[in-house]
Amino acid sequence: MESGDGLILRVRPVLARLTAEQAYGLCDAARTYGSGIIDLTSRANLQIRGVRTDTHGPLLERLGALGLLDADPALESRRNILVDPFWQTGDDTALIAAALAARLAELPPLPAKFGFAVDAGDARRLAAASADIRVERGASGGLILRADGAPLGRPVAVEGAVDAVIALARWFVDSGGAAAGRMARHLAGTALPDAFAGTEAPAAEAPPVAPGVTSLGLAVGVPFGQIEAAAFADLLRASGAAALRTTAVRVLILEGGALVAADGFVTGADDPRLRVEACAGVPFCPSATVATRDLALRLAARAPGRLHVSGCAKGCAHAGAAPLTLVGRDGRFDLVRDGRAWDMPLETGLDPDTLATRFGAA
Ligand code: SF4
Repeated sequence: MESGDGLILRVRPVLARLTAEQAYGLCDAARTYGSGIIDLTSRANLQIRGVRTDTHGPLLERLGALGLLDADPALESRRNILVDPFWQTGDDTALIAAALAARLAELPPLPAKFGFAVDAGDARRLAAASADIRVERGASGGLILRADGAPLGRPVAVEGAVDAVIALARWFVDSGGAAAGRMARHLAGTALPDAFAGTEAPAAEAPPVAPGVTSLGLAVGVPFGQIEAAAFADLLRASGAAALRTTAVRVLILEGGALVAADGFVTGADDPRLRVEACAGVPFCPSATVATRDLALRLAARAPGRLHVSGCAKGCAHAGAAPLTLVGRDGRFDLVRDGRAWDMPLETGLDPDTLATRFGAA
């Protein structure tokens, strides 16, 4: 993908996991062939920024050697599969996600942002993550298949889960869902057929993964999802982590990683930077007319609740609603309350400095 700071190359870690060797290699590749900045996206993917056209080829070779590229790029582009980051080998999440990844060729052509969540732990950790078809824990303790936007899901067995996912994806396409782009938007005007209509509510949500010590190892927050590759390699080494797990909430889990100092990362669950989302903005994204992250940092500690600062109405950093969303337009900001970046603003044309004063930021 083209961006304001060069090409962006996206890596989709299988089951949201990289071995330590792959993670070191990725960090080195980002410094050698890119700007040294890696994004952690809201789909739990990693993006190497600042790649030049002449370094693109060597970077692909390096990532291929690390085992971080799929053999078929067309299938890789369909592998929008989020998983519960606390999956264990052989559990429902690992089995279903692997089975779905192996059958991507059976999916119909889907919109680029269409994705899947396999959230089959004891409680749901991906409820707020962007996904269109969910296999998740139901209130009764079994698994359910749920179309995003529908309140109820249909009970499903592990063995039949991927068949059901593919069938629901086909219904989405056959019923004209591509025009809406996402499942929830499609369901706003189209009823699910009986075969997919749900009878069971989803299980309760688990608290989001937070920085600190977890059952897998040290978890660190990544402000705005922006990782400095050299600092991250140092952190991996210092912690002794054997692997890395990515999450959809700007947190990295260092598998087996010990509690160590983590300069540049968030280690406290109450850090205000965890309450703000901001996309790349100016100068990194050609669609942006405003700088986003400086303002978000200035407002982080003072904003009342969760804050989303978006460079434009696409809302790449946060697809969901937020109590307060600032949306860049023509060098100024529009303000949306309790909505998404593309919703109707309450106020328009706000000056960034005025906003900082208004929220009492320094
Ligand atoms: S929300 Fe707009 S400005 Fe921000 S990264 Fe996406 S396209 Fe670019």
